[in-house]
Amino acid sequence: MSSPPAVTEAGQILESVFGYSQFRGRQAEIIEHVINGGDALVLMPTGGGKSLCYQIPALVRPGVAVVISPLIALMTDQVSALRQQGVRAAALNSSLPAETRAETERALQAGTIDLLYVAPERLLNSDLMHRLSAIDVALFAIDEAHCVSQWGHDFRPEYQQLGAIGERFPHVPRLALTATADQRTREEIRSGLLPDDAASFVSSFDRPNIRYEVGLKERPREQLLAFIRSRHAGESGIVYCMSRRATEQIADWLNTRGIPALAYHAGVEQTLRAHHQARFLREEGLVMVATVAFGMGIDKPDVRFVAHLDLPKTLEAYYQETGRAGRDGLPADAWLVYGLQDIYRIRQMGAESSAGEGHKRREKQRLEALLGFCETHECRRPTLLGHFGEHYAGRCEYCDNCQSPPRTWDAADPARRLLSCVYRTGQRFGAAHVIDVLLGQDNDRIRQRGHDQLSTFAIGTDLSRSTWQSVIRQLLAHGYLEPDPEGHGGLRLNDACRPLLRGEQGLELREDLPAQRPQSRARVA
Ligand code: ADP
Ligand code: ZN
Repeated sequence: MSSPPAVTEAGQILESVFGYSQFRGRQAEIIEHVINGGDALVLMPTGGGKSLCYQIPALVRPGVAVVISPLIALMTDQVSALRQQGVRAAALNSSLPAETRAETERALQAGTIDLLYVAPERLLNSDLMHRLSAIDVALFAIDEAHCVSQWGHDFRPEYQQLGAIGERFPHVPRLALTATADQRTREEIRSGLLPDDAASFVSSFDRPNIRYEVGLKERPREQLLAFIRSRHAGESGIVYCMSRRATEQIADWLNTRGIPALAYHAGVEQTLRAHHQARFLREEGLVMVATVAFGMGIDKPDVRFVAHLDLPKTLEAYYQETGRAGRDGLPADAWLVYGLQDIYRIRQMGAESSAGEGHKRREKQRLEALLGFCETHECRRPTLLGHFGEHYAGRCEYCDNCQSPPRTWDAADPARRLLSCVYRTGQRFGAAHVIDVLLGQDNDRIRQRGHDQLSTFAIGTDLSRSTWQSVIRQLLAHGYLEPDPEGHGGLRLNDACRPLLRGEQGLELREDLPAQRPQSRARVA
């Protein structure tokens, strides 16, 4: 059976304009649907190939396709890439000189533009809508559609007014595209931006070429250096840190060790920041050490690794950030190290937050999801994808846990000893002191407080300090222990530990290995 003409034409454009021989994932279906005039919600992971879903229909359908994009940098990149491929594309935004704008508007009138990229405010607050009413419009594509969500990190109020497009252009197909998958955002996009009967195209969010690895943070800089040297020498990568200062320190440190690195954060002066970003996109083998200010809209296909030296905010953020690796489909690493201090810190932030109860509960669920992913003994993919409502059957045989399954041990008895030591010392002390007591150390602090007189003094000499640290970290991660609410660094019991203390519940913990254990890299995606 031969394909309908629209699909044949789409296939030809795929080859002749974009130079690809096959559609990926659900691209063909989406493209056919839009060419035939359908509206659609397109959910695809970063790097999945969303752009072609509107670029090809734009070339097949008569008239100009209007692409709404929140970032000027993103627009500029796309337009210049399209022009290089011989596509008649242009952008309208506030950063352009009046002359260029006028020229684009003339071309629009003359019907010589196939794809027009605009910022939402440009579309809404100029006479552009009016101009468009007078010409053929092929489609509207709303990129980064999650910006419509008030609850997301990228909220853009103008996005909420884009529903107006439907009133002005009821017969023009509309697409809303995003890589943000959670159910609530999905519903907000549908209700805010699309007609009720729009089709949904939800792709798998699995990124099979990304190898997830989570390790114990010991000496993070050295661990990072060893990771880059052994697995990514001369390759491009992104290192995420929480603080601005850390990004600069780590970048300096990498540079002195022969790894070219740049720092990027919101405090870097704007032209320098743009310059760093441009260098990262252009050059090979450059490492960008950045806060989360870096990343949205970065389309560099050959980022070979994304490393986290601090825990990301949420599992969604982790997914987005690591998703910048391996967009070309070749093997890439998502590498994260974290330790006791990180868990302590984020648990503390959760406790301090002054937000309302409902909000706090959601924050807590998000935190549990992140920690659950970090601490799991199982394949990481079911946990990660499960968080986006996707069922992943079996094991990937590619992540750290699949390739070197962590050993677990029965830690119920040590955990009980530790919890009772926290209790006996008054639930006011930090990990170091509690471990000193367990190990029966002789120091001033212990003697002054009379902790050498406690029944829990020296009851933990059978285990090493690092094992006790590992137990504390995992008890914090599981929520059996929590930071004291005053923020003095003390630990206290959480009610959740009662069944364990009463012996009604067992506890298997993971045996921590040094993060730089040898890795087999058997599988190539
Ligand atoms: P997204 O917007 O979903 O993050 P892009 O549209 O930028 O993804 O596509 C990611 C990369 O994949 C780009 O380099 C693009 O050229 C490439 N790509 C998209 N579709 C195909 C395809 N059918 N075959 C090969 N490469 C593709
Ligand atoms: Zn796995």
